[in-house]
Amino acid sequence: MRWDREVGVLVFGAGMGGMTAALIAAHEGLDVLLCEKTDQVGGTTSTSAGTVWIPGSSQAMRDGVPDNVDDARRFLAAEIGPRAEAAREAFLAAGPAALDYLDARTEVKFTAPPRHPDYHSNQPGRALAGRALAPLPFDGRLLARDFDRVRPPIAPFMVLGGMMVGKLDIPALLKPFGSVANFKAAMTLLLRHATDRLRFSRGTRLVMGNALVGRLFYSLRQRNVPISYDTKLVELVRGNNGIEGAVVDIGTARQIIRAKRAVILATGGFASNATLRAEHLSGLPIAHSQAFAGASGDGFAAARASGAAIDDRHTSPAFYFPSSLHKTAQGETLYPHILLDRSKPGLIAVNKDGRRFVNESDNYHDFAEAMLRTNTATPSVPAWLICDRSFIRDYGLGLVHPGSGEHTLRRFIADGYLHRAETLMELSGRIGIDGKNLLRSVQEHNAYAEAGVDEAFGKGGTEYNQFNGDPENKPNPCLRPIAQAPYFAVAVYPAMMGTCVGLSTDGDARVLDDSGAAINGLYAVGNDMASLFRGVYVGPGITLGPALVFAYRAVMRIARNPD
Ligand SMILES: Cc1cc2nc3c(=O)[nH]c(=O)nc-3n(C[C@H](O)[C@H](O)[C@H](O)COP(=O)(O)OP(=O)(O)OC[C@H]3O[C@@H](n4cnc5c(N)ncnc54)[C@H](O)[C@@H]3O)c2cc1C
Repeated sequence: MRWDREVGVLVFGAGMGGMTAALIAAHEGLDVLLCEKTDQVGGTTSTSAGTVWIPGSSQAMRDGVPDNVDDARRFLAAEIGPRAEAAREAFLAAGPAALDYLDARTEVKFTAPPRHPDYHSNQPGRALAGRALAPLPFDGRLLARDFDRVRPPIAPFMVLGGMMVGKLDIPALLKPFGSVANFKAAMTLLLRHATDRLRFSRGTRLVMGNALVGRLFYSLRQRNVPISYDTKLVELVRGNNGIEGAVVDIGTARQIIRAKRAVILATGGFASNATLRAEHLSGLPIAHSQAFAGASGDGFAAARASGAAIDDRHTSPAFYFPSSLHKTAQGETLYPHILLDRSKPGLIAVNKDGRRFVNESDNYHDFAEAMLRTNTATPSVPAWLICDRSFIRDYGLGLVHPGSGEHTLRRFIADGYLHRAETLMELSGRIGIDGKNLLRSVQEHNAYAEAGVDEAFGKGGTEYNQFNGDPENKPNPCLRPIAQAPYFAVAVYPAMMGTCVGLSTDGDARVLDDSGAAINGLYAVGNDMASLFRGVYVGPGITLGPALVFAYRAVMRIARNPD
């Protein structure tokens, strides 16, 4: 083999998995090259909320919401059963150390919000806080001219032409004159954004996934880790000693790079590859993806061609968001209904039969799964979120912000995003669903709202539901009658968040072949690795958490063992 270049560790993909692996490799003194096929870092990570689910961390202890690994172990056993036990133990054992490693040496820093419950908060061992950690906001100005290398967040996470809005910013921005504190907070954000826009293409106060990517990127620059942009993994080179390197395209030039210690795949899974989706999610009516278009299965396909085994024994082959679609002449925006509207009081979701089919306050993946499940008997894709005018005033509906006036509503109605009618019967006609059933569903729901108990689906019945409800709404923070005309509807579709089917790996992220043996020199992290949670959405941050921890485990193993 004639090599064009030699490095110690060759990492593909500059998202959470790849950037973390490259960063730790550099800190361990390994000669590392990070290859990214686009001209920006971040992948889907940059558009995410940036939450990592890692039990028992010192950050949780420091922030006053201690969690412990034994409880997490019980919780995972209840949620997933005996599947992937060895990998789970590896994850639980290394999680706190991986966070401490980054915290001590880099700018990759997290905080534990005072409340952020696991998604099935009625299970034994569940945590209400302390397991889901959020990245600290990041000042993008520190990246100077490289700021534009950070892939921007999705449009719904920004306002005013590029100002990022985190969950905690929303109250002040919605009610700037509500209190002195609100006014000060809103003014600080707006002034900062105005000055940013004099020098930068968008706001530089980064939160959520963009803050995480900014922090990883800044730390990589501090360490002078080489990043080769426009450099695409084409295929792996397998020799007598396992994986020895890779063929890459750098722009239009092909090169063969030797990896003396290891190749780490972190190309983001295959959520955006229609062919692989058809193969592994066959029969599911999923036409949309919230994942980055570059998550096209390159690492997955290259490893498979080199003899890697696939792990597809998952409860769900992928994770999803219910998403609404806004189409205009300028393009399409997909809005993920994560937590801001569905869970709030005064909204139901119905299918074509006009019937409810799910607890609307449950997490986004479970909601979308219920759509897919119900759809096998009754058309439920799309499903419809139904509410009245007071709901939009108080909570908004998808892209329609809370407090929106008539002009905004008319614009969204004209675009076909929002549907409005003076009666529920008329609304059902507009959206093509069963009107009598819709009327009955709303009447039933309203009776549950009066009583405070949703006898049909238990909306508002778990701590997770209540966390995303409205605490001011009594007796149930997730239930209030839908009673004041006009009525509104928006369609939601299941959209890919990321794949669970992925490469089969061991507890150190080594890729396995069909016999279960590790392929020498080959590792997979992030969504290239099969989901640790086997397609069960246990809590916030369950893709980025393992991406971080297994990047750490992989590199520590490489540093210890030359393979
Ligand atoms: C709106 C939204 C919110 C989310 N919020 C969360 C959250 O809060 N917590 C959580 O855990 N998960 C969240 N997710 C999911 C999470 O973002 C992804 O699962 C995660 O980012 C995947 O990380 P990764 O490192 O595997 O891939 P990515 O971040 O997608 O990075 C992969 C990189 O590989 C590059 N690449 C692809 N092919 C090649 C190739 N051939 N050669 C070189 N480079 C290549 C891509 O260009 C990309 O930059 C969210 C997703 C969305 C859409």
